[in-house]
Parts: sequence; structure tokens; C-alpha cells
Amino acid sequence: MKTKFIKHNRKVNNFYNNDQEIGELKMKYDSASVGSEVKRFEDMPLSQKTLNGLLDSNYIEATDIQRNGILPALIGKDVMGTAVTGSGKTLAFLVPVIEHLFINKWSRSDGVCAIVISPTRELAYQIFETLKRIGRYHDFSAGLIIGGKNLKYERNRMDQCNILICTPGRLLQHMDENPLFNASTMELLVLDEADRCLDMGFEETLNAIIENFPTERQTLLFSATQTHSVKDIARLNLRDPIFIGSKKDNSKDIIPILLQQNYVVIELADKITVLWSFINNHLKQKMIVFFTSCKQVKYVFEIFCKLRPGTSLLALYGSLHQDRRIAIYNDFTRKSNVVLFATDIASRGLDFPTVNWVVQMDCPEDAVQYIHRAGRTARNKARGESLLVLTPSEESGMIRELRTCNIQIQKIHIDPKKLFSPRLKIEAALAQNTELKASAQRAFLSYIKSVFLMKNKNVFNVFNINFESFAISLGLAVTPRVRFLERLSKKKNSSVSNSLDEPNNFMQDDSDNDDFLSVKRIDHDLVNTANVPIDLPKRTKVLTKAAVAKRAIRKKIKINEKMNFDDEGNVIIDKRRQLQYELPTDYGKNAGGINIEVAKRILSQEDKYDKERFRELVKYRHKKQKDKLKKLADEDPKTDDAYSESDDNVDLTWLPDPDKIYISNPKRAEKREASQINIDDREERTIKKVKFTSELSLNDAELIAAKILSYKA
Ligand code: ADP
Ligand code: MG
Repeated sequence: MKTKFIKHNRKVNNFYNNDQEIGELKMKYDSASVGSEVKRFEDMPLSQKTLNGLLDSNYIEATDIQRNGILPALIGKDVMGTAVTGSGKTLAFLVPVIEHLFINKWSRSDGVCAIVISPTRELAYQIFETLKRIGRYHDFSAGLIIGGKNLKYERNRMDQCNILICTPGRLLQHMDENPLFNASTMELLVLDEADRCLDMGFEETLNAIIENFPTERQTLLFSATQTHSVKDIARLNLRDPIFIGSKKDNSKDIIPILLQQNYVVIELADKITVLWSFINNHLKQKMIVFFTSCKQVKYVFEIFCKLRPGTSLLALYGSLHQDRRIAIYNDFTRKSNVVLFATDIASRGLDFPTVNWVVQMDCPEDAVQYIHRAGRTARNKARGESLLVLTPSEESGMIRELRTCNIQIQKIHIDPKKLFSPRLKIEAALAQNTELKASAQRAFLSYIKSVFLMKNKNVFNVFNINFESFAISLGLAVTPRVRFLERLSKKKNSSVSNSLDEPNNFMQDDSDNDDFLSVKRIDHDLVNTANVPIDLPKRTKVLTKAAVAKRAIRKKIKINEKMNFDDEGNVIIDKRRQLQYELPTDYGKNAGGINIEVAKRILSQEDKYDKERFRELVKYRHKKQKDKLKKLADEDPKTDDAYSESDDNVDLTWLPDPDKIYISNPKRAEKREASQINIDDREERTIKKVKFTSELSLNDAELIAAKILSYKA
């Protein structure tokens, strides 16, 4: 997590004190108007600090979605905002978030107030960067909580953040594992790219997250392709939401006016030649090229780098390390003549400046995916061009789907004189480099798998692919075997011979009882997309945990038991490593086998105990750190200016004591107290232990906390 404690800037005109300004703003809410009458941010009832932040970033005139969306959100309404890609939705929700904290006098000690959820890490990072810019004059703290970062670092700082920008998977992980994270104070939830957050891929994760939120809250949903599902509205507990922006299925409202949309139809085997030629004909442009899978992106990037096209190449895909992903994101943002090969992690929300072209090398899953990919260009009233590449078998189905959404796309033809085939060079490169050859094979298979997994069988039919020529186009002399299809064919053939009535063309069979053909979009947080478990290994006898446990009980082996002895050879009993509740004693008496239900109850009780202890330890550590800083500040008054942005060592001495400055909000105090009842009502035993640990050094306390977390009953 990046935590930025946004420093109060003394240059701000502090003529008003906060209370006076808040009072005036609240009065303005009732009389303020929305829509075309409001042209500039200045015309909106916003705090001076927010206006200064906006001004610094040159945000002066508000866009339509900002004009219409900010005021309803300010007065506490639930909002569903729909607006074309690149029309400024980020500010439409960030401004109300900041103002909500300001108006409600939120202080750092009040905990988390607003949570913004984004479907991808890069988008979360981008929102966080925007928040840092426009919120720079406020005193709140914000955290970026995304996967691939240091979990322990995030864990210890989450309770100090007022605004969290997160991806769903990581947020849920903290909710499940981090006893310090307390969402009960949360008042505002934002889903950016809301339809994506709510779709099947994140369904389970998001449902689990929502369960942890208070039902009394404000919810803002934003996307270019908004959800219209009653089920989603009910899931989120929206209260009389205000719908802002474009109407459903009106292409004018979802495709930027200045986006020129074209498509070409070519054979799959010609894609590499067409892409190579296209890049060579547009060397002075900035473009994003979308492929379906990580392995394709990786291979095309590797082989094109070898061929040296005369422009910078970058690749962004999910299996890269997170730091690398952010570096590539920043690189592409900065450069002007550059090609980015990407999977759909780059298709939602990312705002790269001045992208001239978006090329969709692989057919998108549906019109929504098409809109978001194409929307990476022609943003915020700029011009842009999009090229969709279709194979002959995909053309009619996909174009029909786009036309039903009123998307006007023109067919164009490629001038064969402008095509240069890099095939010979690719073959030579693969002959010299086995790693590259393996990468080509992986790209080949992952494309076929991705086509196979697509839901719309009118567009995607794996048996329309000429495997041999596709393999040759990737530089592979020998066509790799597609084992999962061979296995499926075998399975189908045997079932055909069993029942002559069944249709033998199984690609037409979309019935629900066929596992393979009813594959839906997988849960991205629970399963790695790249490893869709199609190639199941042959069945071997599985040694279950229950079997191992039974054997251990039979042989009276105590698993994972560690004994410590004192100097006299007596066993030291560490009570902290023993089960704490009554139930286990009874459970131990029931010899023979494992009662899963009882075991679950024990685990959940022990888990509660562990979390309480851990929370205490970390609180103690924070208190000690705070005392230390206070002592330092008392000793050396100069430390008042010693503000540091370092993530590792944040000097908070310049901060005033929030409890003295802010009039504490009784409702919030109640919530925080309620969440601490468990701690105060602990059994005597627990208190004793905390007392004991309070004499430990910081390092020891951390060690014990880590042991508790890894400890399993
Ligand atoms: P969306 O989320 O609707 O796709 P973004 O919020 O990413 O769009 O904004 C697209 C671009 O427009 C960004 O570069 C942003 O800085 C710019 N932008 C947004 N609002 C304004 C504004 N009021 N004035 C000028 N530029 C703006
Ligand atoms: Mg956006």
C-alpha cells in the first residue's frame, strides 16, 4: 500500500476557518443547481481546498457527468452515473468523496470513511494518483490496496486510512485476515467500472465484501456501460438511486464522438503479418494492441522486439510482477511513439494520454468489451481511431452484435502492397531460441483455449480455426497438439456411440449438462485466468488430509508438536499455543475420526481470540510509536517541519492531535466503540496476556503476532 498523508499547505487562503466554511457550504447545497447552468467547478458548492486542488491540475470547466453528478452525490444521494469513456467520471466521484470527508470533519483517527473499488490494479493506481493531486490541500489520509504489494505493510497501516482505493480481491483478503481492518465506520462506497465489478467474474468476491459493509451508507456507481440489473441494485442495497447520463443502448452516449471505428476481415494466419505491417506503417503513433491472453501478448512482444520494428514496444499483462506492471503503465503514459501490447487488464478505465490507435487483434467477447477497449483512445474530446480485426467466421456474428448496440463501424480493406511478412525472420528466430519457441507454443494453445471458452458460440467456434496455418504463422514448423480438444472429441465420440439420438456436432451443443461447453467467465480473484483447468491430469489415488489424520490418530502421532524444555529438562508449557476455549476439551474426548463441524466451530472461536490478541498487540505498538514521536517533538520543536513522505518512516509529529482539534462525531465514536466491545469484554486471561506482552520489545511483539497468525489449532 502506498500511504500518503496529505500535508496541509500553508499557502491556502485560510481566511475562513473550517467550521464557518462548512456551514456556508451546507447552506449552498439546498440552493445549488445542477446541469447546464453550472459551467465551472467554482460554481459548485465545493470547499476552497478542493477547488485549489482542481485548479492546480487545470480542472476548471466541469464535464457533463461532473456537472450533473457531483451535487446529488454531495447531498448524500446514491448515484448511478453513466457517461462515455474518457468523459471525466473519476472526478465525478472523487470530488464528492473528498467533500464528504471535509463536511463531516473526518479526522485520521476516525478510521476509514470511503472505499473506492476498481476492477484492475492499474485503474486503482490511476484513481489514487488523481486523488493525491486533487486532495493535496486536505488533511486526510488515503491508501492504495492492490494485490502484488506487501501485505504486512498494508496490514499495519490500513486502520489509519480515511480513503481506500482497492481491487476487490485484496480488499476481501484484508477483511478476512486483517483484524485491524474495521469497515464499520465506512460511509461511502464507490464502484468505478461498476458493471465489471458486479459481473460474474467478481460476483462472489463482491458479495462477500458487501456483507462486511454497514447497510447505512451512500453508494456511487460509475461506468460507460452501466448495469441495469435489478438484482445488482438490490445486492448493493441502493436507496432510491439517481440515474445520471446516457440511456441504455444509445451508441452516441457510449462511444466518443471523435472516435473513428473501422474493422478488417483477415484469416487468423495473416494476423501477425497484418500487425507487423500496421506497426511499420504507423511508426510515429501511439497505439494499444489488444490480445485475448497473457501468453499471446508475451510472445508477440518477445518476437517483435527481436524483429526491431523501429518504435518502442511495451507489454502489459496480468502475470507480470506488480512493480513491473506499474513501471510499464508509467512508461506508456509518458512516451509518445510507442506500441503497447496488452490483455484486457488495460481495457477498463485507463487514461493514457494521446493514444492515436486502438487495435483489437482478437475479437472482443462482446460489445461491452469492444466499447471499453476502443475507449482507450479519443478521450476527453480528443480524436482517435480504432481498428477491429475479425476472422471470416467471426464477422457476421460480431458485427450483428455491434449493430444491435447502434455502434457504427466501417469495413475497410487492406492494401496487399503494404503488407510485409516477417515469417521467415520469425522462423529463424525460433530455430535459434528454444525459449521463444516454447513461448510460441504457449501462445498458440492459449489462443485456442480462449476461443473455446468464449460464451457466444455464434461468433467463436474453435473448429473454424485452421490449426496448421495458425501455427506456421507463429513460426512453428510443427503444429502443437491440442490435447484438451482431443480428449473432448473422444468423450463425445464415445457418448455418440452410446446414444445414436444425440447430435454429433458438439460445438452446436450449448446444453447446461456439458461441463466443457457451459464454461462461463471464471472468477478472476479465485482462479488464475491463465491456468484454466482444462487439461486435467489423469486420476491417481488421492491421499486426503482426512486419511493422513486418521493414520496419525491410529499410530498416536502428534503432528507438528514442538516442545521447549527449561534448563532442568522440564517441559515449558506455553499457554498461548494452546486452544483457548472450552469446546476443544469435549472434542478431544470423542476419539476416532474428525468431526468437521466441531473442528470448524473450534477454529472460528480460536480465530476470534487470535484476532483480538493481534489487534491488541498492534495497537500497543502504534501507541508506543506515537508516544515516542510525541516525546521527540517535545524535545525538539523543529520537528514540526520535519514532514516526510517516506512510506516506511512517516513522521506524523507535525499533525495536531485530532481529538483536540475536531469535534468528535458522536455517531462515529459510537461505531468505533461498538467495534471495540469485544476487546473490552475480554476474559481476564486475555488481559493478563496483553499485560505480559506489553513488557516485550517491539520486535518480540511482532514475532508473537506473526506466530499467532500462522498458528493453527
Ligand atoms: P472516464 O473515467 O469517464 O473514462 P477519466 O475520469 O479517466 O474519464 O477522465 C478522462 C480524462 O479527462 C483524464 O485525462 C482527465 O484528466 C480529464 N478530465 C476529466 N475531467 C476534466 C475536466 N473537468 N477538465 C479537464 N480535463 C478533465
Ligand atoms: Mg474511468
